Amino acid sequence: MIQTISAFERIGEENAFAVLARATELAQSGKDIINLGIGQPDFRTPDHIVEAAIKALRDGHHGYTPATGLLATREAVARRTFTTTGVEISPECVMIMPGGKPTMYAAIVMFGEPGAEILYPDPGFPIYKSMIDFTGAKAVPVPIREENGFAFSAEETLSLITPRTRLLILNSPANPTGGVTPRAEIEKLVKGLAVHPHVAILSDEIYDVMTYDGESATSLLQFPEIRDRLIVLNGWSKTWAMTGWRMGWSIWPDALYGKVRKLAVNCWSCVNAPSQYAGIAAIDGPQDEVDRMMRAFDRRRQVVVEGLNAIDGISCITPKGAFYAFPNIKETGRPAKKLASQLLEEAGVALIAGPDFGTLGEGYIRLSYANSEENILRALERIESFLAR
Ligand code: PLP
Repeated sequence: MIQTISAFERIGEENAFAVLARATELAQSGKDIINLGIGQPDFRTPDHIVEAAIKALRDGHHGYTPATGLLATREAVARRTFTTTGVEISPECVMIMPGGKPTMYAAIVMFGEPGAEILYPDPGFPIYKSMIDFTGAKAVPVPIREENGFAFSAEETLSLITPRTRLLILNSPANPTGGVTPRAEIEKLVKGLAVHPHVAILSDEIYDVMTYDGESATSLLQFPEIRDRLIVLNGWSKTWAMTGWRMGWSIWPDALYGKVRKLAVNCWSCVNAPSQYAGIAAIDGPQDEVDRMMRAFDRRRQVVVEGLNAIDGISCITPKGAFYAFPNIKETGRPAKKLASQLLEEAGVALIAGPDFGTLGEGYIRLSYANSEENILRALERIESFLAR
């Protein structure tokens, strides 16, 4: 009988995909389902970006590209990094990746092995823990608390570091909470990391420009003292509504760049050329569609937060970033997973249970407001009447 290695018994899931599959199945059977489950913008990729990919194909860009990405795409990323962070980086430290997730994979397999410890946010993007478990390293949760506005605490994070800690994963603006960690807290963390030079940092900044109320996210790149051990994850998926293109980038310290390049050669060779041309157009082209999308998200954010707070037993703090609300449902007395499943099966509202993002997610649910205002209002009505039954 064939037998796979034990690591595959430990690998996890991203339940948002399972919920999406079930929601699609129910919709195909004729049920009216409102999907607030999946974390992808409900906007089309702007036309000029699509055109750039079509042009690249017509121009004959059909072959392999460098494992690190086209120089022109890496240069575009360096320009964009300067615009958003004020930090000059060399295109020689940029990797073009097939989406955001492969950077997560690369960083975690580089540092994870039995005996090692990796710190990750809980609640947080579920793939962090899944991949840590896969490597056999110990996954150490860093609590992300509602009373802290869903920002991480520098003090608490630093207190969890041991001589075995190899990697610290940070995410702001955050999935699933919409939390944005204030600059002062990040400064405190960086200061504290000075006495832990053995700890590498993976900063997931994929929602970097998706913030509201004049808030701006702080990039870890702005701290030169940790650059030699910092990996920054970013990508096109969310900002330019390009989830299906599988386009991401990451910024690596010199010591790790050769390693991630080799991993790319072994795993996926390179990212397809037309998407990389589209990526350049996204960065260098007009940003008015992005602005329009963010204005729509902002309006829906108000609608969702107001609507949730009007429901008995639910309270929701205003998210400062990304496009998720993470309401507290503890007063309803219902376990989050059961409630999420009932809302999908009985009320036709797809959303994700907090525990799908970690044990500290119990008592919460995640709503993605990447849906029309009208649908959000209908979903809120359904949730309210379901709870009142
Ligand atoms: N990081 C975070 C925090 C995310 O929420 C997501 C997607 O939901 C990703 C990374 C992965 O992005 P991609 O779809 O480009 O792999």
